[in-house]
Amino acid sequence: MRRYTSGFVRRSRYAQIWIKIAGHHSMIAYAPTGNPIALVRSEYFLDDDTTILVGFGPDHTAIDLDDRVSVQELVRRWRPDLEVLETAGHDWNADPWSGQTWASPRSGQFVEGWSVFHGRETRLRFAGADWAKGWNGVVVDGAIETGITTARGLIDEFREVSQR
Ligand SMILES: Cc1cc2nc3c(=O)[nH]c(=O)nc-3n(C[C@H](O)[C@H](O)[C@H](O)COP(=O)(O)OP(=O)(O)OC[C@H]3O[C@@H](n4cnc5c(N)ncnc54)[C@H](O)[C@@H]3O)c2cc1C
Repeated sequence: MRRYTSGFVRRSRYAQIWIKIAGHHSMIAYAPTGNPIALVRSEYFLDDDTTILVGFGPDHTAIDLDDRVSVQELVRRWRPDLEVLETAGHDWNADPWSGQTWASPRSGQFVEGWSVFHGRETRLRFAGADWAKGWNGVVVDGAIETGITTARGLIDEFREVSQR
């Protein structure tokens, strides 16, 4: 098995923010590098004629998740007509139980390291979103996929052993 001693997956610094705006607005918007919110999209339309947007940014230190005024300025870069009523978020990077958000391998690291986690050379078996075959890293689908495939693989291995 190959050894990866340092910097295999760098610690992520991402931010996720929830933004309540006045009115019902269906939108999805991206911003170029350097913007504290890189992607924002409508998530829920509430009965009180407001919309909850979810936003994602590359650096949790570049955005104050609870500062309505600065978030209003960021939202205006896309849509000057939108009024931000409230914002909220959790700093997953500062949370001692998570320590970061989702994995962000450097260029080439996923391709180079991915097969290592699927090998059967040792007794270690891995399941987790970061080395899934589909939707790896950022969504729970990858965690479910590897949970299923790793569990099935183990059942097959135990069957093989018991039939010897
Ligand atoms: C802010 C945020 C928003 C997200 N939003 C979405 C979304 O809307 N939709 C979606 O599909 N996905 C979303 N995701 C991604 C999704 O949460 C992950 O892809 C999924 O939870 C990964 O599951 P996992 O089992 O691979 O890892 P995890 O859920 O990270 O589980 C790993 C576990 O291992 C534990 N652990 C770590 N080290 C050790 C150790 N040394 N010893 C013992 N235990 C250890 C950790 O405490 C953790 O409980 C989001 C993630 C974040 C951070």
